[in-house]
Amino acid sequence: MKKVAIVFILAVIAPSLVLAWLSLRSLRDQQFLLERQQSLLYQGVADSLAKDIAGVIVEHQRELSSKVFALLREHETLELAKTFDERIQKEWPLARVGFVVTLSGQILSPSPLGRPEAKAFYTDYSRFLANRESLEVYLNTKQMSAVQQQNELKDLESSKRYASKTQQLRNVVPAQPLSPTKLPPDDWSNVSKVAPSEAEFRHLIGDESEGIIARFIDNKLNLLFWCRPVPGTGGKAFVRNEDGKQEQLVFGAQISIPRLLEKLKPLIRVSEPVLQREICVALVDDLARPVATTHPAFTADWKRPLVATEIGEVLPHWEIAAYMLNPAKLAQSAHALKLTIGLLVSVLVMAIGVGSWLIVGDLKRQLTLVRQKTDFVSNVSHELKTPLTSIRMFSELLADGRVTDPEKQRSYLGIISTEAARLSRLINNVLDFARTEKGEKKYHFIRCDLSTVARETLDGYRPQLEAGGFTTDTEIPENPVWVNADKDALSQVLVNLLSNAEKYSDVKKEIRIELTTHPKPLPHAELRVLDRGIGVPVDSEEKIFEKFYRAHDSLNTGITGSGLGLTLARQIARAHGGELGFERRQGGGSCFSLRLPLQNTPP
Ligand code: ADP
Repeated sequence: MKKVAIVFILAVIAPSLVLAWLSLRSLRDQQFLLERQQSLLYQGVADSLAKDIAGVIVEHQRELSSKVFALLREHETLELAKTFDERIQKEWPLARVGFVVTLSGQILSPSPLGRPEAKAFYTDYSRFLANRESLEVYLNTKQMSAVQQQNELKDLESSKRYASKTQQLRNVVPAQPLSPTKLPPDDWSNVSKVAPSEAEFRHLIGDESEGIIARFIDNKLNLLFWCRPVPGTGGKAFVRNEDGKQEQLVFGAQISIPRLLEKLKPLIRVSEPVLQREICVALVDDLARPVATTHPAFTADWKRPLVATEIGEVLPHWEIAAYMLNPAKLAQSAHALKLTIGLLVSVLVMAIGVGSWLIVGDLKRQLTLVRQKTDFVSNVSHELKTPLTSIRMFSELLADGRVTDPEKQRSYLGIISTEAARLSRLINNVLDFARTEKGEKKYHFIRCDLSTVARETLDGYRPQLEAGGFTTDTEIPENPVWVNADKDALSQVLVNLLSNAEKYSDVKKEIRIELTTHPKPLPHAELRVLDRGIGVPVDSEEKIFEKFYRAHDSLNTGITGSGLGLTLARQIARAHGGELGFERRQGGGSCFSLRLPLQNTPP
C-alpha cells in the first residue's frame, strides 16, 4: 500500500502540481504580454499624435515662409521689411509680432515704439536677434550638434554650460515606459529628449533657410518662426546697409500660442472607437497641465499617464499623454485572472485529491476482495474436504462389513446423509452465488404458503439439529401465509439461517423460529430465526451480508464457512421484493429476519 502511495504521488500528484505551476506561470506571462501589447498600442496612438502635431506646426512655419515670399513679390523689399510687423499680422492670424532682421543684427521690424506686444518683443529679443546675446533655446539634435560645434570653437565656457544642460527631466512620468534595453527604465522615462542650449541668433539659424526657435520666458513658452528667402526662391530679400553692402534679411514672427493651440486642438482625437472607450489622450503643456483632451470631463493625475510621447523641439516639454479611463481595469483584469487561475488550480488540486481518495479507496476494496477470495478458496476447499472425509470414512466402514450393529449402521448412514446434505448445500450456495453474480439466476415464482415452506424445511433440518443437541422452539401459524415466491429459494434461505444458528452456537443450544404477519408499512410476513449463539461482533452487522465476508474466521474460531450464505440469502430476499436483516437478540444471540410481501388474493 505504501508503495502504491509513493508511485501515485510520483506519477500523478507531482506532475499535476508541476503542470499547475507551469500553467500558472504561462498565464502570468500571457497577462504581462497582453498588458505590454496594450500599452504598445496606446504608445502608438501617442506617438502618431505627437508626430502629427509637430508636423502641423512645421506646416504653419512653412505657411509663414510662403506668406513672406508672396509679400516679397508684391512689395519692395525695404518697404516690406519696415512694415512687416503690421502686414504679417493682418495677413496671418498666427503672428503675434512680425520681425525682420539683417544677418548683421539690424532690426528693421518691429518698431520699438509700436504696439505693446511689439515693445515687449523688442525687449525680449532685440539683443538676441542683433547677435549680442545668447539665449536658452530648445533645439533638435541636428541643430544642437551644429550649434555645439560652433560654440566649442567660439567659447569653451558656453560649451560646458551646454553639456550640463543636455539632461533635463520630463514633466510627466509614464507608468509604462517603453524602455530601450540598454538603459534602465527609470533613467530613460524621466529624461527629456529635447534639451536647452544657449546660442546666438546667427549661429542658431546657420545655413538653414527656415526654422522654429522655442524658448521659455518667465516659464511661458515662446515660439519664433523664421525664414530666409534664398536665391532661387524668387524673393528679393537683400537690402543695402549704410556701408553700401548687400545684406540678407531674415523674416519671422512670434507666434500667438493661444491661436496655435486652437489649430492644434482638433488634432487631439482617437479615431478607434475601442480605444476611445479605454483611454483619454491629452496634450499636456510643460507644467503637465492638459491643454486639450479627448475626454473633457475626465481628470487624472496628469503627471502620471500610462504612456506619453514628447512632441519635440517645436513644443519643448509638451507631451501627448494617454491615461486609462478606468485605471482599475488593468488591476481588475489581473485580479480576475489571478482568481480564475487560483480557482482552476484549487479545482485541479481538489480533483486530484478526490480522485486519489477514490482510487485509494477502490484499491483498498480490491485488495480486501482479493484477500477474501483467497480465503474463500481455502475455506471452500476445507468445507468440501470435511464432509467428503466423513462420507468416505463411514461408507468404507459400512462397505467393509465390519460394523454389524444395526444401531451403529443407522447412525453411520445418518452421518453420511447429513454430510452429503451439507456438501450439496455448500455447492448449491456457491453455484447460486455465481449465477446471481452473472445475472443468470432464475426464480420460479408461484403463490405459496410460507408457513408450510418453513415447517417442511425445519422438519428436514431438525434431525441434524437434534443430533447436535439443539432444541427447537417454533411459532408458526396454522393458517396459510401467502407469498409469491420460489419455494426452493425460500427454503435455501431458511436452511442457511438454521445452518448458521447451528454453526455459530454457544453453550445454550436453543433455536427458535417465528413466523408472523404485519399489516404495516405494507402487509408483509416475517420469518425470524433466533439463536443463543456467539453473536455478531460490533460493527460487523452490515458487513456480514457482504460477499466472502466472515466475522468469525476459521483460524480463530475453527468454524469453517464460505462467507456466501448470508449474501445469497439477502440476494434471494431482495429478488422477492423483501429484505433480510439482522438484530441482536435480547439476552444474547442473534436474530435474522426474512421479510416478504404478503399476497392476500386467495388462490
Ligand atoms: P459463512 O459461510 O462464513 O457462515 P455467511 O454468509 O453465512 O458465511 O455468514 C457470514 C458471517 O456472519 C459468518 O462468517 C459469521 O461470522 C456471521 N454469522 C452468520 N450467522 C451468524 C449467527 N447466527 N451467529 C453469529 N454470527 C453469524
